[in-house]
Amino acid sequence: MIITTVTDAIGSTPIFKFTEKDYPMPKDSVIYAKLENLNPGGSIKDRLGKYLITTGVKKGKITKNTTIIEPTAGNTGIGLAIAALSYQLKTIFVVPEKFSLEKQQLMKALGATIIHTPSELGILGAIEKSKELAQAIPDSYLPLQFENPDNPAAYYHTLGPEILQELGDQLTSFVAGIGSGGTFAGTASYLKEQIPAIQLIGVEPEGSILNGGKPHAHAIEGIGVEFTPPFLATLPITRFETISDKEGFDYTRQLAEKNGLLVGSSSGAAFAAALHEVQRLPEKSTVVTIFPDTADRYLSKGIYE
Ligand code: PMP
Repeated sequence: MIITTVTDAIGSTPIFKFTEKDYPMPKDSVIYAKLENLNPGGSIKDRLGKYLITTGVKKGKITKNTTIIEPTAGNTGIGLAIAALSYQLKTIFVVPEKFSLEKQQLMKALGATIIHTPSELGILGAIEKSKELAQAIPDSYLPLQFENPDNPAAYYHTLGPEILQELGDQLTSFVAGIGSGGTFAGTASYLKEQIPAIQLIGVEPEGSILNGGKPHAHAIEGIGVEFTPPFLATLPITRFETISDKEGFDYTRQLAEKNGLLVGSSSGAAFAAALHEVQRLPEKSTVVTIFPDTADRYLSKGIYE
């Protein structure tokens, strides 16, 4: 495959098949994981960056002088920066201090400016700061992944159809992590339209509020919410599965050691939830999940220690 822009390499990622030979699950059951870590920017958010920039250009919200501003834990910044490069746009990302240094270095390598907000203000602090910047900087565009319906649309139009095309319509359950909720909502709504009986399982780390409780810190990075994402409102969600840091990181390590999959902790959490789901189901069930990003951006955080 010869490409002339790196955005051409986004999507059409491989799907890994796990069976009872790999992990305990009922006879003839399967877990499929979409390897979004293999996108050029190392995460699922490459799809979002490409979609937000191209639709922003199409809708006339982005011109050649536009500065893109976005609150992000990092992966959305990397995805947006890659897509922005193809239009030579400036990018500014507002990142809570706690998020991984590697992601911040990658955003900078792609030409972005990083602005920090205090960790204790969470992503809400970063959202507020981004809105302030957007008001102050002329010709800026704030895609605002946490509110923008183009976020779930990016996955509705790409990830959902890829899964259906590769795996067919005999899927029992779809299991995926929730940060902004875009991946889950967009993919789940496409799959539910095509496969009405499919179960939809959202994954969160302990310290996220979807199953109730107060928000608190967690080490699993990229998923978990302090407020219910608006995109979830109209979805017939079967349940949320809350995964502890310990279990999420245990599976993250096992995926590397047993399967050679170098994926981040939100992938470990998604896999833990997919295993819980398949173990509740009868024999011959098929569960599909998403591995959102790669491990190497968490080495300084001791992901394998
Ligand atoms: N995993 C990782 C590593 C992420 O960076 C994100 C996005 N924050 C997600 C999962 C969740 O994706 P979404 O924002 O679409 O819910």
